[in-house]
Amino acid sequence: MTGSPSHAGKAGTAGKAGTAVVVGAGVGGLAAAVGLRRAGWHVTVLDRRPEPERYGTAFGIHPTAQSALDRLGLGDALRERAVPYRSARIRRPDGSVLAALPLERIERRAGRPELLISRPYLIDALVAAFDRLGRPGGPGGGPGIAFGQRVTDPGAFDADLVVGADGINSTVRTTCFGPSHAPRHVGTVAWIGIADFETELHGETWGDGRFFGMTPVEPGRTNWYATVPEATTADELRGFFGGWHDPIPRILAETDPAGWIRYEMRHLHPALPAFVHGGRVALVGDAAHAMTPNLGQGACTALLDAEALARAVAAHGRTGIPAALRAYDAERRRTAQRVAFGSRTLHRFATARRPALRDAVLGLLPG
Ligand SMILES: Cc1cc2nc3c(=O)[nH]c(=O)nc-3n(C[C@H](O)[C@H](O)[C@H](O)COP(=O)(O)OP(=O)(O)OC[C@H]3O[C@@H](n4cnc5c(N)ncnc54)[C@H](O)[C@@H]3O)c2cc1C
Repeated sequence: MTGSPSHAGKAGTAGKAGTAVVVGAGVGGLAAAVGLRRAGWHVTVLDRRPEPERYGTAFGIHPTAQSALDRLGLGDALRERAVPYRSARIRRPDGSVLAALPLERIERRAGRPELLISRPYLIDALVAAFDRLGRPGGPGGGPGIAFGQRVTDPGAFDADLVVGADGINSTVRTTCFGPSHAPRHVGTVAWIGIADFETELHGETWGDGRFFGMTPVEPGRTNWYATVPEATTADELRGFFGGWHDPIPRILAETDPAGWIRYEMRHLHPALPAFVHGGRVALVGDAAHAMTPNLGQGACTALLDAEALARAVAAHGRTGIPAALRAYDAERRRTAQRVAFGSRTLHRFATARRPALRDAVLGLLPG
């Protein structure tokens, strides 16, 4: 699919509100669509998939991203299902504790805890919020989300604003900045899944070139992820962690590999010179700054981008889009790129091949 569907045109807009096409119905695209529609914009979301992409396990939502969801009117929906993430440790494969994750410090500073939320639930909540705002009497109205629409030429849209929220392999990014800014493999893959039992033992266990993480996600279930060398198959995964502390072998033994998801660990390199292009295109989320998941900030940064973009657009109005894009880029680019760099650095550290040295360094860190 290329170019502009008729419903994405400029006709019928008035005052400060304009038209926006959002490419991608992931967390970043849907949050941007909700924010723009709350500002009265006429928003069309296009996604290549035939239906909402509901696979996935859990997202960590930092207090700053919770505030962004509050500003998007989604804070209550988040809190209805999210669980707090506390008391997590970094351990060695034998179970001895290396360090504490700084969750208590985050909670003390922010006055609220880091939360974990199921990815499918967050996607559904965003879709529902967008649909509600589009009903007659809602601020934006409009045709809503069109699935099964693969965008190949984002320049062809006749809209005031084009939001590239099309993820790590973003077509919008490549169109604007060329193929040299591309996702790069970091040499590992993550297998992720949900176990149907709870454990009190949360955090990450770091071994030689691999690590295993466990977090709460909802009552009676445990979210897990395992980072291993790239060639590892599902069959090999159980063997890789067979001798590690409880309940890691049990989690892998008692979950069906058919439900495991293989996720390639990549990050965008080199970083983009701007998150905006040509006076009417903005990139959000993984399209702008795909990062390894080590800091658990992929969804958080996508939400913060989306909310900042919608806020800037609302403040400057339809005739002020270039200024709004400059404000968005100034607010988000450096911060998000610093987080991406930090996540990549942590990935190197956690998958180090000389764990004795790494563990000694970790033991020296404060807190
Ligand atoms: C093991 C692991 C754990 C993670 N844990 C966390 C965590 O704890 N916390 C966290 O915040 N993040 C986490 N992440 C990262 C997170 O999943 C993503 O970074 C985040 O979802 C980014 O959202 P997005 O909307 O930018 O992109 P996506 O969710 O990838 O959405 C992009 C959308 O664009 C659509 N699309 C793509 N191309 C086109 C096209 N040409 N035309 C139309 N549509 C298109 C796709 O179908 C998709 O729906 C984790 C990742 C891994 C691997």
